[in-house]
Amino acid sequence: MQYEQIYRRSIEAPEAFWAEEAKAIHWHRPPQQILDYSNPPFRRWFVGGETNLCYNAVDRHLAERADQLALVAISTETNITREITYRELYREVNAFAAVLKRLEVGRGDRVVIYMPNMAEAVFAMLACARIGAVHSVVFGGFAAHNLALRIDDAQPKLLIAADAGMRGGKVIPYKPMVDAACAEAQAPPPKVLIVSRGLDAAEPKVPGRDEDYATLRAQVGEAEVPVEWLESNEPSYLLYTSGTTGKPKGVQRDVGGYAVAMAQSMRTVFDCAPGQVMFSTSDVGWAVGHSYNVYGPLIGGCTSLLYEGLPIHPDAGIWWALCEQYGVRTMFSSPTAIRVLKKHDVDFIHRHDLSELKYLFLAGEPLDEPTAQWISGALHKPVIDNYWQTETGWPALTLLPGLEMKQVRFGSPGFPNLGYRMKVIDEQSGAEVAPGQKGVLVIQPPLPPGCMSTVWNDDERFLKSYFSHFKELLYSSLDWAIRDEDGYTFILGRTDDVINVAGHRLGTREIEEAISGHPRVAEAAVIGVHDELKGQVPLVFVTLKQAATAEEVEGLAAEMVQRVTGSLGAVARPAHVHIVNALPKTRSGKLLRRSLQALAERRDPGDLSTLDDPGALEEIRRALGT
Ligand code: ATP
Ligand code: MG
Repeated sequence: MQYEQIYRRSIEAPEAFWAEEAKAIHWHRPPQQILDYSNPPFRRWFVGGETNLCYNAVDRHLAERADQLALVAISTETNITREITYRELYREVNAFAAVLKRLEVGRGDRVVIYMPNMAEAVFAMLACARIGAVHSVVFGGFAAHNLALRIDDAQPKLLIAADAGMRGGKVIPYKPMVDAACAEAQAPPPKVLIVSRGLDAAEPKVPGRDEDYATLRAQVGEAEVPVEWLESNEPSYLLYTSGTTGKPKGVQRDVGGYAVAMAQSMRTVFDCAPGQVMFSTSDVGWAVGHSYNVYGPLIGGCTSLLYEGLPIHPDAGIWWALCEQYGVRTMFSSPTAIRVLKKHDVDFIHRHDLSELKYLFLAGEPLDEPTAQWISGALHKPVIDNYWQTETGWPALTLLPGLEMKQVRFGSPGFPNLGYRMKVIDEQSGAEVAPGQKGVLVIQPPLPPGCMSTVWNDDERFLKSYFSHFKELLYSSLDWAIRDEDGYTFILGRTDDVINVAGHRLGTREIEEAISGHPRVAEAAVIGVHDELKGQVPLVFVTLKQAATAEEVEGLAAEMVQRVTGSLGAVARPAHVHIVNALPKTRSGKLLRRSLQALAERRDPGDLSTLDDPGALEEIRRALGT
């Protein structure tokens, strides 16, 4: 089937199209109305339909694939691998649901889950879905303050935490962070459930509040908990955005639309059929982890690999070894991770038999051309850049090899996904720009199934953050883009990452691309800083693949300046190139440009709670002499 034909149908006859797609999942009661768009931009898909995410991800597969692996949870931190069949998954999820019931969690109650990539995190999510509780997974690497903010926003009845996570062999106890977060929060959860792997004693226990999972698990035994059938538009989960541009927003997802989007994308985008294996290297705390470690592959009847550990431990070939061992067909990772692997020998890839592997999907941030070239050359498989946001929940721009394998065009995440009516428009006039012209990437509502329903408890913020930027009612992605003559869309960076040099508007991303082409450069970050004469000038921070000697620094910086002026013109000439050892990033691997900028302008760097490595900021401060 041709992509264009199906895409057109999804846009021109959305109700007929989605009515057909909805048949891919189990409905306890079929939808009574496919789309209710009586209150734009809010929309409700599959109105009156009753279904359940857990039923579709687990129960539904028992008849045909009870003994097939559902989840393989691999930890190169604890050195434990758990292979879990659909039958076992059913058992564990039911037991977990029974424990939740004992703790008086019910339909509509929020449950915050603060765990690393371990099997119980998946059990907990599915158990919540089973009983109609709304989970909100908070990335295990976040500190107490982040956790407290999310607790206060979600007001959970229960917090489920691991005893500890591990990173690079080091145990990171979670309990002290949980206690600190509960102390800081205005609305701390009445109950805390600790799931222990024996890594930390998780003491002291707060009497009446703290519960131990293993104890309760033993008490519920082989309990089975009936599925709670939910109306399609009830909330299934909350997930907070990365906070790269400000205070994280509580993205609220529905039930039916999300299930349908997951089922469809597993087939059309990820080309992964029931019984086949998908490996996403994401953390369960991110949008990709929710959709393509948990709900997508399980709703699709696939085997999902979940990985806890560093990509280079025990060596830089670990992911490819797992692909070989489990016969992974579809792999999903991020450009950051590939840049880490790129510092190592390609032989770590070549020594493995990757004959089952068909695709590598990458998402989360711009995929620069050198990285794309390197990994494509090393794998000899299509490397598919796909663009989405926590808000969309599944790819908005991508190639859909399950329908038609279009040619990969480096630098572009491809075409609008099914149901996404996307445009690139002029920031001022709101008119669609010509091919090759830069504009803001927008989605014309109603948003397709699977995308966010609203901001949790804050419809106003939903409207203001996403739908208030233009005269017309449009969802702004807040990203710049260009669409070429052939319809490939290129992302140029965030709308707040544009700098104005003497009246010329330059995307920081374009300057970064020019610099990344330098053979010594590992990664580049560009920001605009105030300049008396020109308004703003670009300032460059780079990390190198191999450290430079003191004598080399000046020459390297000059070469980079030359690259920028060579490809973008003298107007883009950087004021300075700082060679540093690390760049400030969020825990999801996104560059914290707003903090870089603040430091460069000698302002307060703002909320740093999502920062991965505080050392990176110190490094920047030193480079800037502040
Ligand atoms: P916040 O919205 O809280 O500031 P965030 O936007 O970083 O945080 P996410 O939803 O995790 O949170 O990230 C989505 C953003 O990541 C996109 O808007 C885009 O800027 C970037 N992004 C994701 N995938 C790609 C891609 N394939 N190419 C380019 N940019 C991408
Ligand atoms: Mg965002």
